[in-house]
Amino acid sequence: MTTRITNPRNTIDDIPEFLIKTTLGCSLIVLVILIPFTINNFIQDRVIMGLATSAVAVVCIINVWYGLQSRYRLVVNTYLVTPVGAFAITYTMLQLANSGSYWPYLLVLAYYFVLPQERAWIFNALTVLIIVPSAWLVLDLPSAVRFSAALIGTSLFAYISMREINTLHGLLRAKATTDPLTGLFNRSLLEDSLQQAIAQNQRTGVPMALITFDIDDFKSVNDTLGHDMGDEVLRGKGELLRRHTRSSDRAFRMGGEEFLVLVHNTGEGQGAEFAEYLRRDTELIDLLSDRKVTISVGVSELQKGMDVSAWMKACDEKLYKAKEDGRYRVVA
Ligand code: GH3
Ligand code: MG
Ligand code: MG
Repeated sequence: MTTRITNPRNTIDDIPEFLIKTTLGCSLIVLVILIPFTINNFIQDRVIMGLATSAVAVVCIINVWYGLQSRYRLVVNTYLVTPVGAFAITYTMLQLANSGSYWPYLLVLAYYFVLPQERAWIFNALTVLIIVPSAWLVLDLPSAVRFSAALIGTSLFAYISMREINTLHGLLRAKATTDPLTGLFNRSLLEDSLQQAIAQNQRTGVPMALITFDIDDFKSVNDTLGHDMGDEVLRGKGELLRRHTRSSDRAFRMGGEEFLVLVHNTGEGQGAEFAEYLRRDTELIDLLSDRKVTISVGVSELQKGMDVSAWMKACDEKLYKAKEDGRYRVVA
């Protein structure tokens, strides 16, 4: 029997896609604002400051380059934007005192537009810890107090508002991609998920399999026991499927009483083993007390040269064959 790590929820935990757009926008804005100041730094013979602002501009150009290709690089934003930005801004303030004390506000806000929320908050806090003491070194006492209070206030406002936006974004995304009855993914992520799996397979050679199953004679469950009981069965199937899939797998309800699981790092043999396990699962079969609820299953390993529709078609044909051959069986 296949051992699978329990995955209590069907989750997607990638970086929010709005970061691609906000990082691009933010980088373009900073680039436009920064260029005149960078030129001025060199004209005024402030070479280190000029080099520091040039470094920020280069990081922005890298981000614009990725952004224009609809890509986002977490490494660039974590290991370049943060140290380069914090150094440039701290150095500028130490050199220019009062007239250098406006930029830290822009930096702490920028973190929330280019980094996932937790990282943004950590770097925001670190930046405050570096810049506030620097301000106390170069500003007079009343200015240093006001600067510190305003920077901490700005940071907290940014944190609170971005936390709300992120929460809402997560809820909307979950709502748009989840089937409300079973809690599995709906079809909206299917195409992208299969596309990613195909790309990963081409890149690394890791085998990928699709398992699709359909409840047998489900119409008669509805007809004899009622639609609500039918819904209960679908809910039960969804719950069990979630319990039996690994966190790298993706389980979908395709509509009606048909389900599909995309299993990573699994060839046809292992996929068929898992399918057989699902087919025989007594909890699944005995969802109703007075009748058996069985499934027919098709398994298809991704073959070289297959695109999304060819792969799904291959799997559908296996399922169709399982039905034709008499139901309650696996065809791989
Ligand atoms: P087969 O073994 O060939 O798959 O037969 P079947 O009866 O399962 O297949 P058929 O396509 O004839 O019927 C599917 C039924 O699924 C018909 C439809 O009423 C029911 N169904 C589709 N969506 C839902 C749903 O959300 N809730 C409930 N309760 N029933 C649904
Ligand atoms: Mg059916
Ligand atoms: Mg069906």
